[in-house]
Amino acid sequence: MGELLVHQFRCRADNFGLLLYDPVAKLCASIDTPDGETIWHELDTKGRQLTHIFNTHHHYDHVPGNEMLKERTGCTIVGSKNDAKRIPGIDELMEDGDIYEFGANKITMLETPGHTLGSVCYFVEPDKILFTGDTLFSMGCGRLFEGSAELMWQSMQKIRALPDDTQIYCGHEYTLSNAEFALEVEPDNLALQQRAEEVRSLRRARKDTLPVSLATEKATNPFLRSDSREIQKKFGLEGQAEIKTFSATRALKDQF
Ligand code: ZN
Ligand code: FE
Repeated sequence: MGELLVHQFRCRADNFGLLLYDPVAKLCASIDTPDGETIWHELDTKGRQLTHIFNTHHHYDHVPGNEMLKERTGCTIVGSKNDAKRIPGIDELMEDGDIYEFGANKITMLETPGHTLGSVCYFVEPDKILFTGDTLFSMGCGRLFEGSAELMWQSMQKIRALPDDTQIYCGHEYTLSNAEFALEVEPDNLALQQRAEEVRSLRRARKDTLPVSLATEKATNPFLRSDSREIQKKFGLEGQAEIKTFSATRALKDQF
């Protein structure tokens, strides 16, 4: 346990660069490539050789460094077969539940459509690390650019089913504004009030608010909490199907 190292750093305005390193097998994977030069610099500083890129989806702020980094390092690019035509330089196509052997670790691809139809998350075992791209943010979820609320709702259920002590890394640092929205829909949630306060002080100290445990997200993220009475009541949807509350929460966030 705890064999893998995750190096998190800022790219572009609010994207995260993420390097997953296996010191035993000397494998290094970049989760997405928001900025090739910044990632190249971090690899150089850490003295690591890039061996893989795992892409979460095709958006312009997640793939722009793919080809440059592949050219310089000969790394293997892994992504969803659903995005085979949209991810530059893709080599290995995976689908839901497929496992990629990364040294002695296993990286399972979870198809989590909603933000885009090809969006995926990567779950790393045995360390229980989840990379969510733009599907799940701390206290938030991705905008529905291609998928329906129903699809995104199913994707949220898939994430919810993972172990509580899973450590979550996301594609963007959106946590502070997400916390403000979460407090708007569920002001009486004590765990949320505490996490919001923690996030405010982290951001004041210019520190990142991620990773975060799945247990914390289940207690604070309104998009994982459509079973919350308080949120259902906010939308006048008590006792109705949870998907309705999820859908209403997503719609309100779009205007927030
Ligand atoms: Zn995106
Ligand atoms: Fe993004």
